[in-house]
Amino acid sequence: MSAGLDDTICAVATAPGEGGIGIIRLSGTKAVDIADRLATLRCRKSLASVSSHRLYLADLRPRPVVPSVAAQPAPSTASQFLDEVLVVVMRRPRSFTGEDVAEFHCHGGPLILQTLCEAIVSEGARLAEPGEFTKRAFLNGRMDLAQAEAVLDTIRAKTAGSLRIAQAQRRGLLSREIDAVRHELIGALAHVEAGLDFAEEDIAFVRRDELLVMLDTMNRRLSQLLDTAREGKLWREGASVAIAGRPNVGKSSLMNALARSDRAIVTAVPGTTRDLLDEWLHIKGLPVRLLDTAGIRDTKDPIEQEGIRRTRQAVDDADLVLALIDQSVALQEEDRTLLADLRKRNHIVVLNKSDLPSKIEKHEWPALSAGERGPVVISAVIGTGLDDLRERIRLHLGSEGLEAGDGVCITHLRHQLLLRRAQEALCEGSAALHEDLTGEFVAADLRRAADALGEITGAISTDDILDRIFSEFCIGK
Ligand code: GDP
Repeated sequence: MSAGLDDTICAVATAPGEGGIGIIRLSGTKAVDIADRLATLRCRKSLASVSSHRLYLADLRPRPVVPSVAAQPAPSTASQFLDEVLVVVMRRPRSFTGEDVAEFHCHGGPLILQTLCEAIVSEGARLAEPGEFTKRAFLNGRMDLAQAEAVLDTIRAKTAGSLRIAQAQRRGLLSREIDAVRHELIGALAHVEAGLDFAEEDIAFVRRDELLVMLDTMNRRLSQLLDTAREGKLWREGASVAIAGRPNVGKSSLMNALARSDRAIVTAVPGTTRDLLDEWLHIKGLPVRLLDTAGIRDTKDPIEQEGIRRTRQAVDDADLVLALIDQSVALQEEDRTLLADLRKRNHIVVLNKSDLPSKIEKHEWPALSAGERGPVVISAVIGTGLDDLRERIRLHLGSEGLEAGDGVCITHLRHQLLLRRAQEALCEGSAALHEDLTGEFVAADLRRAADALGEITGAISTDDILDRIFSEFCIGK
C-alpha cells in the first residue's frame, strides 16, 4: 500500500450495484478543489466558500479535458450533464480522515459512479486503496489502531451483540484499558531506569517488592483481558455448528426450523462464500453458522463438489456438532457409530420427532448423554424444545457468562497475541526481579511488554503491520 498522504484519494463509498444513493468520497488537500471543478452549486457559490458539514444541491458536469482552476466554472459545451447531486465538504481536521473531505451523493447507478470517479481521477486524484480512508484517519490521529480495526468490525457485525462490542472498541474502550496498563508500565520502567539497584539508599526510587506488586497487578489485568478472548472471537467471528445424523432423522427440518426464526441479516462473512448447506443464524444473540450435512452427497457437478468439499471441511472444523437421532425408531447402528465418533468432540445429542412415541429403549439412554447433561428432546416440525436447544448451544459454545457489550472484550487474534507477548515479558521481568538481576534486564522486559501493548493501539506500528490490517478493508472505507 502506498503511503503518500499528499495524494488526494477517491472511491465509491457505498456498496457495489444499484442503490437509491451512491456516495463518492474524496479526501486530501485537493479534495475541495477537485469537487468544485466538477459540481455547479445551485446557490451559485463555490465549494471553497460554503459551510463545512452542510449538504448543497449541485449539478455534476464533468469535463473530458482538465481546465484551469476556476472558482465557478461555467458549463462549457464540452461538459456533459451527468447527475443532480448533493455535495458536502468536511474541512480538516473535523472529518473522518482528518483531511479535507468532499462527498458526492449521487443517484446510485454504477455508470454514474464510475463516470464520476474517472472524472475525479482526471482532475488529479487517485483511486483509494482498500482501507485507505481509515488508514489516513489513523495516521492523522483521528483514531488509534484498535479503533480503526473496530470500524471494520462495526461494518461486518452480524448480530446486535457483535455490533455492541465493535462499537465499544470503536469508541475507544479497549484502547483506554490498554493505555492505562501501558502508562503504568512506562512509569515502572522509568523507576527501574532511574536506578533500581540503588533503591534501598534512595526513597525516591521504587522498591523491588513494590515493583513486584505492580507487575503482578498489571499481569492480572492482562489475564482478565485475555480471559475475554474466547468469547470475543465468538461474538466477532461467530461459531460454526454442524447438524449430523443419518438420513431422514430431520436434519433439514431442524435447519429450516431454526432458520425460519433466527436467520441472520448477513448470510456470509468474507472468505466463507455461502454454500448450499449453511445458514447464518443468531442463536441467543450469538452469530452462528449452521451447517446441514444432509446436503453432503455424491455429485458430478464440479461447483457442487466444491461446495460439498468446503462443507465437509467446515463440519470437521465445527465448534459444535448436533448429533441428531430420530427417537421415533429404535437406535440404529449408524446412530451408535455417530455417537462414538463424536465422543471426543464438543457435541449435543438431540432427540428429534418427540411428537411421535419414543422407541428408544431405556438401556440406550446412557449412550445418549453427553457429559452430565442429558439429550435435548425436540420436534423439528412442531417446534417444541427448540428454545432448550438454543440455550444448550449457547452453553456449549461457552458464552453463558457475558452479555455482549457490557465491557471490554478481546475480539482480535492480533490483540490476543500481543497481550500474551506483553504478559510473557512481564513474567520475565518479575523473574528477573526475583533473581536479583540488574536493572537493565528488568528494564528490557518492561520495555518489551510496553511495546507489545503499544502495538495494539498503534502507538508503535510499522508499515507491515498497517498494510496487513488495512488490506482487509474494502475500498472506499
Ligand atoms: P434429513 O434427511 O435428516 O435432512 O431429514 P428431513 O429433515 O428431510 O426429514 C425427514 C422426514 O422426517 C420428513 O418427512 C420430515 O417431515 C420428517 N420429520 C422431521 N422432523 C420431524 C419431527 O419433528 N416430527 C415428525 N413427525 N416428523 C419429522
